[in-house]
Amino acid sequence: MTRCEICGRRVGGEEGLMHHMEKEHSDPGYDCRRCGLVFSSMEEMRTHLQGSHRYDG
Ligand SMILES: [Zn+2]
Ligand SMILES: [Zn+2]
Repeated sequence: MTRCEICGRRVGGEEGLMHHMEKEHSDPGYDCRRCGLVFSSMEEMRTHLQGSHRYDG
């Protein structure tokens, strides 16, 4: 049995581990709803919104 090293959950083999990592531990970050760009922090996204889209919502 393969175990996830991050959360310790048991997964079915290497393929299962890959799916598990993608689903549970991938970090999509914050994405701009207007253009789809992804930022690693809320602050970065806010700056982007103010600079590129004029946050008027
Ligand atoms: Zn895990
Ligand atoms: Zn944007």
